[in-house]
Amino acid sequence: MRLRKQSLLFYFCTTLVAASCSTVKRLKFEKPVDTKSKRIHVQKKKVFQLDAMGLYATNDFLASRLNGFEMVNDSTAKVIITPENTPINNSPYYSFKLWSTTAKTYYLLFEYPEEYGHRYIPKLKRGAAAWKSADSLNFTYNYTDALLKIDVSKDTVWVSAQESVSSIDTKNWYSKLVKNKAYVHVGSAGESVLKRNLPVLDIYKNSAQNKPIVVLLTRQHPPELTGYFAFQSFVTTILNESKLSQSFLEKYRLLVFPIVNPDGVDLGHWRHNAGGIDTNRDWGKYRQPEIKNITRYIVKAAKETNSTVLVGIDFHSTQKDMYYTNETRHMTAHPDFIENWFAGIEKSLKSHAYIPEQERANSVKPVSKGWFLKYFNANTITYEIGDETPRDFVRLKAAVAADEMMKLLLKW
Ligand SMILES: [Zn+2]
Repeated sequence: MRLRKQSLLFYFCTTLVAASCSTVKRLKFEKPVDTKSKRIHVQKKKVFQLDAMGLYATNDFLASRLNGFEMVNDSTAKVIITPENTPINNSPYYSFKLWSTTAKTYYLLFEYPEEYGHRYIPKLKRGAAAWKSADSLNFTYNYTDALLKIDVSKDTVWVSAQESVSSIDTKNWYSKLVKNKAYVHVGSAGESVLKRNLPVLDIYKNSAQNKPIVVLLTRQHPPELTGYFAFQSFVTTILNESKLSQSFLEKYRLLVFPIVNPDGVDLGHWRHNAGGIDTNRDWGKYRQPEIKNITRYIVKAAKETNSTVLVGIDFHSTQKDMYYTNETRHMTAHPDFIENWFAGIEKSLKSHAYIPEQERANSVKPVSKGWFLKYFNANTITYEIGDETPRDFVRLKAAVAADEMMKLLLKW
């Protein structure tokens, strides 16, 4: 009888410990958002044939978006783009490939549902050449109308709202990056709604025990590629084996999530995941598997190593370069971190006359920026890059930002 009692007690305790290990406490925000799954419309993959014009288009590849393709006249076709569901932020993403029977100049007229307007300047890719923005002489647009003049031939031309990067491209990128770096532990935080992998690069030298954690994440919003390019440069700089990078990785641990919404990315979504939800509104109740799994991974990693998250940076894109920060900082480990960091970035980019622009306000909705502050008292930044910021500068600025962050954190 006594033995049974003891084993029951043991069972109860271990169950309790296991449950508390894997549970992420829910957080309250001033303006809660309902993140229960909603239906999405999945685009039909096909080749669109406008035989009378000799013009063809396809969306039959990863991260594409083309919902309709119609002839207007001999040289003009209508490109119809719709979102995965509504309501949704105005971020009409498109990506399709074109070819024609004979070499000819065509006009493409972009059409979105009535309440949405044009956002992205087309990026073009021909063969193995690099992506190029459409020439301003060939592209006229305002919010409601957008017209692209384009030379098409038998050789396929790829037209995309931003340079296309699928989940496979992302995997190829980080696999190459971490080659021969034994201190980068490539793992998985779990799966998305459609069972795609949620990769994590867990980076630490020797032991992870007691090391303060920096979390980097990106692509909650699929078309926000400029934020992703900044993220790539930031991570690459931290892993570049410079003296600074080596000292930093002796002292700190990094949790890097290169693709938070892989379903949305591969389905060519404007913003949401396959549950039809903006994942960056789910950081309070974790109703979507992407955020549930990623927050669980972070909380568990911190708990198991008797550590905490010091800094969280979430990379996005918007109309211009901008940093969203929290108003509350006094209870963070380093209340001056953000101001010092921006000062360092500004100083290093003096020759570019770049001044970091900051919008400082606590998150009222359940977004990652609010989550890191509420859960860990971490310094958090939503690192925004303009849609059309020159790519070289995006990369340079992120490399500088990574160096300045490492320098600053090594002082403490
Ligand atoms: Zn975003």
